[in-house]
Amino acid sequence: MARYIFITGGVVSSLGKGLMAASLGALLQARGFKVRIRKFDPYLNVDPGTMSPYQHGEVYVTDDGAETDLDLGHYERFTGVSARQSDNVTSGRIYQQIIARERRGDYLGATVQVIPHVTDAIKEFALADQDDHDFILCEIGGTVGDIESLPFMEAIRQLRNELEPDRTLSVHVTLVPYIAAAGELKTKPTQHSVRELASLGIKPDLLLCRCEHPLPDSDRRKIAQFCNVRPEAVIPALDASSIYAVPLQYHREGLDTQVLRGFGIDDAPEPELSTWHDILDRYEQPEGEVTIGVVGKYVGLPDAYKSLNEALIHGGMANRVRVNIRWIDAEMFESEDSELAAKLEPLHGILVPGGFGERGSEGKIASVRFARERGVPFLGICLGMQMACIEGARSAGHPGASSTEFGATDEPVVGIITEWMSEEGLQKREAGGDLGGTMRLGAYDAKLTGNSHVSRIYGGATEISERHRHRYEVNVAYRDALESGGLIFSGMSPDGLLPEIVERPEHPWFVGVQFHPELKSKPFDPHPLFAGFVAAALDQSRLV
Ligand code: GLN
Repeated sequence: MARYIFITGGVVSSLGKGLMAASLGALLQARGFKVRIRKFDPYLNVDPGTMSPYQHGEVYVTDDGAETDLDLGHYERFTGVSARQSDNVTSGRIYQQIIARERRGDYLGATVQVIPHVTDAIKEFALADQDDHDFILCEIGGTVGDIESLPFMEAIRQLRNELEPDRTLSVHVTLVPYIAAAGELKTKPTQHSVRELASLGIKPDLLLCRCEHPLPDSDRRKIAQFCNVRPEAVIPALDASSIYAVPLQYHREGLDTQVLRGFGIDDAPEPELSTWHDILDRYEQPEGEVTIGVVGKYVGLPDAYKSLNEALIHGGMANRVRVNIRWIDAEMFESEDSELAAKLEPLHGILVPGGFGERGSEGKIASVRFARERGVPFLGICLGMQMACIEGARSAGHPGASSTEFGATDEPVVGIITEWMSEEGLQKREAGGDLGGTMRLGAYDAKLTGNSHVSRIYGGATEISERHRHRYEVNVAYRDALESGGLIFSGMSPDGLLPEIVERPEHPWFVGVQFHPELKSKPFDPHPLFAGFVAAALDQSRLV
C-alpha cells in the first residue's frame, strides 16, 4: 500500500505549496517511484467550475471530465501523471455527498457530525482510487489556523494514527520573512505556525522554509530546536529563478533525500534529473525570441490562463526560443480609435484563448480578421475557434453570424447543443439548465482529415483525444459556407457532428480548436499545437 505525504501550509497563503508538491512528486518519480498527487480544497463550492477565474484562477479539466483546482495542472505538468476526478475534493463535495446520504437515510438515525462523518469521508477520499502507487502526496489548501480546513487537519491526524507509523509523513511549508529594518530573517512565524499545527495533533516531520534571503545555519538549527525536527529536515527554499528551477533546487537542498529518510528508506537510487536539466537549459538559454499576443478577457490575472501561459513557454522550449507574451484586453479593440493594427502589427503570433460571455467578443473577432488578412500565425482555442468561425462566416457572406451564447441570432454559427454521443452513450442537457456541471467536459476523440495541416502537426495522426470544457459548438450546418470561404473543417467528432478543428490551408498557420490543448502540454513534452504555433511565429519574426 502507498505511503502518504501530507503537505500543509502556514503563516501566509501563496507560498507555492502546489509547486512544492509537484516538484517533490517529480523528484520521487526521478528516483523510480510511482506517485500520485491530490488536492484537498477547504472551500464550499462543489468544484471550482462555477468560480470566476478572477477568484480562483484557471479551472483545470482532467481527462475524466472533472473541473479541478489549478494546482492539479502543476502536478500533471511536472509528473506527467494524468490527474483524475479522484485527485481533487472540496468541502462542498464532501458535504454534498454526506447530505445526500443523510437524506437517503443511510445513517440509520444517527446524528450526522463533522467528527466522525465528515472526517471519515475525507479519509475515504484520501485512501480511494489508488493503484500500485509508492507515494500519494496530499496537499491541503489554505493555511493552518483557517476554520475551513479544520476537518481536513483532523482527518490527517486520524490517518497518521491509523496507518502504520512509517507510512505517513507531514511536510509543513512556512515563511521565514526578512525584516529589512533589522537586516534579519525571522523564525518566529514558523515557530507559531508549527505550534498551531501541533495543537491540532499534527507534528510536522519536515519543514520547507520559503525565504527571500539564504537561511543561515544558525536559524536552521534554531527552527529545528523550537519546532522539534532534525536540522537536516529544515529545508531552506529560497525564491527560485523560475518554476522550472524548483525541482533541481529543492533536490540540492535535500528535500527528496529527507523525505525518504523520514520514511526510513535508505536504499533509493539517486534521481535521474537530466530531463529537468534540459528543461531548465532550454528555458534559461534561449537562442531567439518571439512575441505572441493573447487577446482575451481575464488578462489582468495571469493565473486565469495558467496552463496557456505554461503551454506557450513549452512551445518556446521545443523551438529553443523565449516566448514573450503580451496579454491584450479584447475589449480595447471594440472602439473606433482602438489602434488595433498598431497593437497587433509587432506580434509574431495571435492567440485567442477560451472564455465565456459576450464581453470582448467583437474585439476577438477583429483580431482574428487581422490575423487572417495579414497572414499572421493564429491559434484559436475553444471560444477562440468559435470566434474564428464567426469571423469566417461574416467574411464569407453571412454578416449577421454570431453565437447563441451572446443572445438570440438568425445566424447561429455557434450554438448550444443538447445531445451528443460520448463513450458512456447519449448525453443530454437542457438549454436553460443549471450552470454547474452542464458542459462538454473532459477527453473526447476527434478524427483528423488525412493530409491536413493539423494531421501533420500531430505527426500524421488521424485520431486524437483532447480535453474539452464548453457549452456551445460550431454549427456543422455552416460547414459548406465556411469551407467555401477557405476555413476547412479538418477535425470532427467521431460521429461527424461536432467540428473539433478548423484551419485555413491558404494561410501560413491558422488553426482553431474546440478543445484545450494547453491542458496536456508538459515542459518535457510540449504540445504539438504549441510547438507548431511558436515555430510559425518564429518564421513570422524573420519576416517582420
Ligand atoms: N463560452 C464558450 C462555450 O461555452 C467557450 C468556452 C471555452 O472557451 N472554454 O462553448
